[in-house]
Amino acid sequence: MGTTTTMRFRNYEIKPDPSGLPMLAAICVSGDESECGAVSDEQVDSEKVGCWIAQHLQDTGHNRYQRRYADYVTAELGEWL
Ligand SMILES: [Zn+2]
Repeated sequence: MGTTTTMRFRNYEIKPDPSGLPMLAAICVSGDESECGAVSDEQVDSEKVGCWIAQHLQDTGHNRYQRRYADYVTAELGEWL
């Protein structure tokens, strides 16, 4: 196969971190030539992101958004494979 290097990997475990609250934000991706790019504050409450979208829609008529979800995990290394 011509492989000259050996990659070694370890097992790992990734778990949700209960001490970090998941965050949600919305970014406006409306626009013909370039995206608007307006971004909401990060919110724990998806309802508040919905309100921001409704307000931005009312102000600008923009109607396409990307919602970004961020959560926290903890990671641990285990055995070498
Ligand atoms: Zn916009």
